[in-house]
Amino acid sequence: MNEFELIRHYFASAACARTGDAVVLGIGDDCALLELAANQQLAISTDTLVEGVHFPHLAPANLLAQRALAVSTSDLAAMGAAPIGFTLALTLPKADQAWLQAFAEGLDSMAAACNMRLIGGDTTCGPLSITISVFGQVTKHQALVRNAAQAGDIICVSGFLGDAAGALPWVLDPAKDREQVAPLLKHYWQPKPQLTLGLALRGKAHAAQDISDGLLADAEHIANASNKQLCIDPELVPLSACLRAAYGPQALHLALTGGDDYQLIFTLPESNLTSLQNLYPNIVRIGYVSEGQGVKLLGNKQNLDLTHLGYQHFE
Ligand code: ADP
Ligand code: MG
Repeated sequence: MNEFELIRHYFASAACARTGDAVVLGIGDDCALLELAANQQLAISTDTLVEGVHFPHLAPANLLAQRALAVSTSDLAAMGAAPIGFTLALTLPKADQAWLQAFAEGLDSMAAACNMRLIGGDTTCGPLSITISVFGQVTKHQALVRNAAQAGDIICVSGFLGDAAGALPWVLDPAKDREQVAPLLKHYWQPKPQLTLGLALRGKAHAAQDISDGLLADAEHIANASNKQLCIDPELVPLSACLRAAYGPQALHLALTGGDDYQLIFTLPESNLTSLQNLYPNIVRIGYVSEGQGVKLLGNKQNLDLTHLGYQHFE
């Protein structure tokens, strides 16, 4: 199977590659064409997953595709953008048909869940890596940026933290008994981009981002961009029953420093909280914004070793 047959068979003919909505022209020409309404801005983000860095060798192709697309689409959610489509730049060591079939199926299922369309890409031979660029639309002046936190805002997260980080030992060692941690593994491989919440936050939240590096590391991004201090009470950080059962007292550390959950962190006036919580009951308030800098932990934090705040390449 040559490059063009591969693209046609697994990608151009996939259900998620059909045109429609804002996608006027999809795979097959030199460029895809998107049509945006006059009051819309294009939101764009790119993420690369490299074998051995972001996922282990021999990771299941179906799950890998789901994770790759979810990770990228989460950036649209964090911006309050509605999804349009994505490109896929795939570097493969070889054209393994069973692998490609599983990958294409995973991609289709996550694309359907996120209302995303595959609009193009590139296919090359080399060490396995997956680059996905996502395209979304957001009404002018409504994007949820990082630099708009205000003193007096409360800080919220959209759900449980630490589950994906808690799954890592089982991701890395498939031989380990996994029955007890199935919910953690699901959060690692099939994170749910918070797309509808992102849309609901427009006009209600001041600053927002998705949690990919870890709660404290990502809170620091908002603090730095907004030139404010984010005060977080570790006691309020939501932990799933599964994470508590698997890790006991270590669970909180994973929730504060582990990345990969793709929940949202956002700041907003307290008066906007109840109406949002009525629609999204998993939203939890974890602190407040004040004048100052950086992230401050509230309460008794002596027992927390926070030396490794979040993952950084080249460190
Ligand atoms: P070009 O030579 O213009 O870069 P290619 O031969 O790389 O075009 O790709 C042909 C068409 O297939 C293009 O529309 C491109 O966007 C699409 N394509 C290539 N690889 C992929 C892929 N992995 N997934 C989706 N579309 C792809
Ligand atoms: Mg090309």
